[in-house]
Amino acid sequence: MPSKVDMDKIVSLCKRRGFVFPSSEIYGGLASCWDYGPMGAELKRNVKEAWWKVMVHERDDVVGLDTSIMMHPGVWAASGHIDNFTDPLVECKSCHLRWRADAVEGEKCPKCGGELTEPRMFNLMFKTSMGPVEEEASTVYLRPETAQGIFVNFENVVTSSRKKLPLGIAQIGKSFRNEITPGNFIFRTREFEHMEVEYFVKPGTDEKWLDYWVKERFDWYVKLGIKKENLRLRQHGKDELAHYAKDCYDVEYLFPMGWSELEGIANRGDFDLTQHAKGSGKELSYRDAETGEKYVPYVIEPSAGVDRSVLAFLVDAYDEEEVQGEKRTVLHLHHSLAPIKVGVLPLSRNEKLTPLAKEVFKRLCPNFMTDYDDSQSIGRRYRRQDEIGTPFCVTIDFESLEDKQVTIRERDCLAQIRVPIDGLEKVIEAKLKGEAFDASSLWATREK
Ligand code: ATP
Repeated sequence: MPSKVDMDKIVSLCKRRGFVFPSSEIYGGLASCWDYGPMGAELKRNVKEAWWKVMVHERDDVVGLDTSIMMHPGVWAASGHIDNFTDPLVECKSCHLRWRADAVEGEKCPKCGGELTEPRMFNLMFKTSMGPVEEEASTVYLRPETAQGIFVNFENVVTSSRKKLPLGIAQIGKSFRNEITPGNFIFRTREFEHMEVEYFVKPGTDEKWLDYWVKERFDWYVKLGIKKENLRLRQHGKDELAHYAKDCYDVEYLFPMGWSELEGIANRGDFDLTQHAKGSGKELSYRDAETGEKYVPYVIEPSAGVDRSVLAFLVDAYDEEEVQGEKRTVLHLHHSLAPIKVGVLPLSRNEKLTPLAKEVFKRLCPNFMTDYDDSQSIGRRYRRQDEIGTPFCVTIDFESLEDKQVTIRERDCLAQIRVPIDGLEKVIEAKLKGEAFDASSLWATREK
């Protein structure tokens, strides 16, 4: 079953409306690197905030952390990344293109049909050196996941937060992987952002918690508007489990190129804490104050990609509709994710309308992300707001000068209501929270 949206359409909308631009574009771009424009920066922030709210703020068993990208090299030796964080690489003997061996079907180069070399293991970590002297001892790696910053702080967090197990530690931040074949827009890049929780539990309860987190994480996407039929769960086969994992599920999304991983939820057992205890010589265990029992916790890890989630939200929200004989492109983004919540649009740039329209903008912008737009025709401005997914447009017309009321237009059903400027914030707040957009009753109040 193919996705109903072409990636080209998403890439073009992202460029046209300021969501995502090719990085270093004026220099010809840099392969697989992307910059988030004004709309993309807001969308990405909203995705991260929606995650942090549910995963940290609304729970009393998860706390946040923000650790350094560069860590002691011993971390990566103990975690197994230096030895195992590899992909099999093959090179074409004719055109010298390199491929991930497991992504090539057959034995020939997918580009030119040339003969391929034997696979060799290629480490995906980016290396750099710290300080002014480039020598072996100064080698550091850019983290390929945020998880290790959490494991090495386990003791610090437990002691300082005085929390009991089960306890989750959450982190959002950049990760770097020297992927052999990045691509599919922002789906696979070499620099990206992770949203990860390491949830520490008593051994023996780990399977129950894995099931719990798989369900929680699947539901998170659904609650934020992703259609259920575009999501599925896939359990990893024994042969594809990462070196640290006991069990793992992927939440997959039907991207334009087909079903692909959106998030992984793994049972990492006690692998990481045990390895870091060995590597650092520090004991990393937990003592239950009530029972006196001491153990090395097991860890359940929901690990999601910010950029991949952004792509899934964009693809799922994208729609082309016909309205009164005209095509409109619209992003049906969840209200909490929409980059702009309200567009303030005076009917025209008429000097009589501008002061009132600016007044409305000033009222709204401390409360909601608001955009003021008085360029071009009102129809074109509605189209632009639809394409960036703005849930509500407030229009100021000549009648507004008389009756101090404005029209609110809703993005999805295109209904319009007329409401007093006084109290406009409250109406919009309620609608953003999901209050029904009942056009009939409010037009009726206007007629009174
Ligand atoms: P894949 O199999 O796609 O390479 P992975 O299984 O290696 O991904 P994890 O290590 O489980 O990925 O990372 C968790 C999440 O981080 C992924 O589900 C994805 O959303 C995101 N992610 C991982 N690698 C990349 C990347 N190169 N670019 C963008 N997002 C990524």
